[in-house]
Amino acid sequence: MDKTYRDILKWGDKREQKIDDATLKVIKEIFSLSDETIANKHLFGDTEVKLEKKISLSEKQINDLKELAGDENILTDDFSRANFSYGKYYSDLLFLRKGIIPTPPDVVIAPKSHNDVIKLLTYCNHNKIPIIPVGGQSSVTRGVETPQGGIALDLTKHLNQVLDVNEINMTANVQAGMFGPAFEEHLNKLGYSCGHFPQSFEYSTVGGWVAARGAGQASTGYGKIDDMIVALKVVTPAGVIENKDYPANAEAWDTYPLFVGSEGTLGVITEVIMKIRNLRPENTKYASFVFKSFESATKAMREIMQSDFGTPHLFRISDPEETDIAFKTKGFEEKFSNKVLKALGYLPGKRCLMFVSVEGDASYTKFVKKNIKKTAKKNTGFYIGSGPTKNWLEQRYSSAYMREPLMDIGIMTDTIETAVTWENLLSLHASVRTYVKKREKIVLMSHISHVYTNGANLYFTFLSPMEKGNEEDDYKQFHKGLVDTIHSNNGSLSHHHGIGRVMASRMKDAVSEEVIKAMQAVKNHFDPNGIMNPGGMLGLK
Ligand SMILES: Cc1cc2nc3c(=O)[nH]c(=O)nc-3n(C[C@H](O)[C@H](O)[C@H](O)COP(=O)(O)OP(=O)(O)OC[C@H]3O[C@@H](n4cnc5c(N)ncnc54)[C@H](O)[C@@H]3O)c2cc1C
Repeated sequence: MDKTYRDILKWGDKREQKIDDATLKVIKEIFSLSDETIANKHLFGDTEVKLEKKISLSEKQINDLKELAGDENILTDDFSRANFSYGKYYSDLLFLRKGIIPTPPDVVIAPKSHNDVIKLLTYCNHNKIPIIPVGGQSSVTRGVETPQGGIALDLTKHLNQVLDVNEINMTANVQAGMFGPAFEEHLNKLGYSCGHFPQSFEYSTVGGWVAARGAGQASTGYGKIDDMIVALKVVTPAGVIENKDYPANAEAWDTYPLFVGSEGTLGVITEVIMKIRNLRPENTKYASFVFKSFESATKAMREIMQSDFGTPHLFRISDPEETDIAFKTKGFEEKFSNKVLKALGYLPGKRCLMFVSVEGDASYTKFVKKNIKKTAKKNTGFYIGSGPTKNWLEQRYSSAYMREPLMDIGIMTDTIETAVTWENLLSLHASVRTYVKKREKIVLMSHISHVYTNGANLYFTFLSPMEKGNEEDDYKQFHKGLVDTIHSNNGSLSHHHGIGRVMASRMKDAVSEEVIKAMQAVKNHFDPNGIMNPGGMLGLK
């Protein structure tokens, strides 16, 4: 059987993944799992996809759409509709495992060109048919669901090329549906890099990065996607919006930032002009440290960011629990060097790992690394070489593949992230830990990444046995408490995952009523009939 729910829910490499022996041993111990629990796969989702919901568009509408986009670019079979029903939020995966798809799209359409997108939006606007722009479907905030049916607009099939690399301006004009690796490979051949590497890099698109306002793992050096965009081309039901590629201007206000983080609610981004970077991997310097405490690691990180000697690109601290798990699963606990670390006062339950990379000119990277080492040392940072950071970078995408095998053995596993200023970071971290640890048997790994002069992103990964038979409600309640805790401790609703439908109801906590009204007015202007990704996205009507 090759058209099962499991084919849809799997992340990454579609081959089945295995939890490595060291990690499995740790998980078994922590959660007291028996061999039987591990052998009996929970909600495996390997049944054939069958949809109950019939297509609600009329035959005439389907024929009109075929004429507009070409027969071969419209899919109406159950599997394709199911395949475009969800992103990668934890509950999406639970529903797929249970074969629950109440509101699939009516059809999946892959436009061939920017002009096709214009034709489709014009038609759908006239006929009030919902359109949901879809990139890699890696949304973790329920951003690509179709609660009112309509069209899932697959931008990856045809709109996936680099249109131009301008080596004078150091920019690339790229179509929105291009996946990360293809884009990066194209640039690498010319001696450049895009600089944006989210953990979902392999399976997310340029348009999705912009629409969800993401951040890559080198964002401390290169900035969020917001900082990388020079210009956008967007098709809205009201018309096409396109800005020029000036380096800066003072021509009234810029409209293109409205589409950065618009999550498909205003229009379809078809092209993006992005800044590109020199690719000089031979100059990159790596450094890894162990600190005696989360406080001292955080202090060093802040001092580095607030110094004037230059900025790392990858910059990351794991808190004590994440560090301990890394030591255990990477087989470091048994090593002689671990004994030395302990003797020097770097103790389990307290110590923290820091990973750093610096990119750029050779003399620059050398200089920055030297100063980072100095600042780290001043704050108890013990230099452990470049190896651990390089090892971490090697598995930075594939670690996400563990989600399915973990859910298969009944482990709830998800992440949540927030932006917070330095003055509130430690108290937010402590409060989240207090809240989470009220749950019996739970692992909470936290790290700081995406770092700024005035604060950083705190990212939490949690693992806990599912409440079998009550998986969704249990998760929902737990997640709500988590968001409440973050909110009451001065954290943002999101730093880079976006809002989607998961956080939509919390928008009123994050921004004022006036801001919501302004957002709705913008939505009403570009999308007067409410056809773009309708159903509560971003808290919009
Ligand atoms: C394992 C994993 C790791 C992740 N790690 C990161 C990370 O490190 N950093 C990060 O920022 N995010 C991360 N994410 C979240 C997700 O990958 C990002 O939000 C990503 O930018 C989404 O891109 P996509 O192409 O998959 O978009 P989709 O999921 O297809 O769409 C996301 C939203 O954007 C809209 N959209 C997509 N394309 C367009 C377009 N062309 N025009 C208009 N609207 C559009 C959709 O309607 C939807 O609302 C991760 C997700 C997973 C599953």
